[in-house]
Amino acid sequence: MRVRGYGGVGEIGGNKFYLEARGEGLFLDFGISYAVRRRYFGWFLRPKRFGLLAYLIATEAAPLVKNLYDDELLDPTGLTHTALARAPELDVHGVVVSHPHTDHLGHVSLLRKDIPIHIGVGSYEIAKARELSKPAKTIEDRIFIDSERPVFLYKTGDRIKVGPFDVRPIHVDHSVPGSYGLIIHTPEGSVAYSGDLRLHGPKSVFTEEFMEAVNLEGVDAVMMEGTRIGEEEQTTEMDVKKSLTTYVAGRRGLVAVLVGILDYDRFSSIASASESAGRTVLVSLRMALMLEVFNRLGVMPRELLPGRGKVEVYLERKGSGLLDTQDYHGWEREYLEKLLDKGLQLMTDLDVASRQGRYTVILNSPDDVLDLLLMRPVEDSLFIYSASEPHNEEQEIDRERIDNWLTLLGMKSVQVHASGHANRGELERILQATRPRKVVPIHTENPELFQSLLNRASPRSTLINLSPKTATII
Ligand SMILES: [Zn+2]
Ligand SMILES: [Zn+2]
Repeated sequence: MRVRGYGGVGEIGGNKFYLEARGEGLFLDFGISYAVRRRYFGWFLRPKRFGLLAYLIATEAAPLVKNLYDDELLDPTGLTHTALARAPELDVHGVVVSHPHTDHLGHVSLLRKDIPIHIGVGSYEIAKARELSKPAKTIEDRIFIDSERPVFLYKTGDRIKVGPFDVRPIHVDHSVPGSYGLIIHTPEGSVAYSGDLRLHGPKSVFTEEFMEAVNLEGVDAVMMEGTRIGEEEQTTEMDVKKSLTTYVAGRRGLVAVLVGILDYDRFSSIASASESAGRTVLVSLRMALMLEVFNRLGVMPRELLPGRGKVEVYLERKGSGLLDTQDYHGWEREYLEKLLDKGLQLMTDLDVASRQGRYTVILNSPDDVLDLLLMRPVEDSLFIYSASEPHNEEQEIDRERIDNWLTLLGMKSVQVHASGHANRGELERILQATRPRKVVPIHTENPELFQSLLNRASPRSTLINLSPKTATII
């Protein structure tokens, strides 16, 4: 049994692990490598649309493998065609996606349209809503909509067959609902894949169930994420809820919170802090759509849906700025009309401006900071940074520019955040509980730190470091 790391080795995110036994294989995740992205591309330096694949392969952001990619993505100059013609082939039976963050899922968009995609029900619904509502869509943002991929949905505890492999997904706690760890049985041995996980969130029992399942099923190796292996610091989601409650209590001015659109646990903490301060949470159309998905998936109570007193929709000005339905297009127009038909009252920047102590405004993207100008924040207003780590974000947080705006607006800012990833102590607990014979560090910039952790947690385990270019036999 071999594992090749085509991404997610020595970097946080970009997971693309090819697990191979007897010449056949599957991919564990096929995400976007933001580390490579940052090295070669930026805000104004983007891959050209007609040559996306050529640029990604040239920068090693996408693996040089012959029979993986959608033919439509070959560039018209023949560069990609020639490079791929000489490249090795893989016998890929499918991709198993652990969760919907783009550093695990995003580059499925490049794959041949007949490669089966196995994904959790929750991940799929969340990813589809994100795609549908994304403001500017690129090739990389179109995975499930406008596409005819064979998609197979799984849920926790299922046993799925992918070629000669038996895969068992078990839910884990992470900063997005619908996250899974995977246990894969192959004809040559078994391996557990952590995906992204933590033990300090509201659903930590999920991660414990995964650990138990790893023990029960018995595996030869564990591929373990180590995003925060160098960090002891521990803020739980409960701590976040407490801090938010303190910051919001008694404040007369506006409260704005920048938070990842998929982070349901954080949304729930913000809603609870706002409720105790008598504030209504305002969300964008896009976030409202996502809340409906969370509710449908059973992770969010109905009372947090817009229009039931606790949460309302804030309509961002677009086009003419006159809040006319003509200013909204595509899914946004459709969704807006649906909400209006239902009789939902939509809030505007002027509503917020006139009653600042009544609202908590949720911002999902750094650009939303511009809306704050129109809300005319008074003294005592507060901006709360509460977003996920940049590798999870669709848009990297432009901290310096946001800070400049906040200075201009006279808003104070604080950071209140709990990570979606296990810290060193939690990783030690996981390894102690599972005691795998072999441990393969993934999704970390510091794989070498696993050795001292293993010495304490599971001294008989061997550490296997994947090198990005070579196959490793487990
Ligand atoms: Zn990740
Ligand atoms: Zn993640």
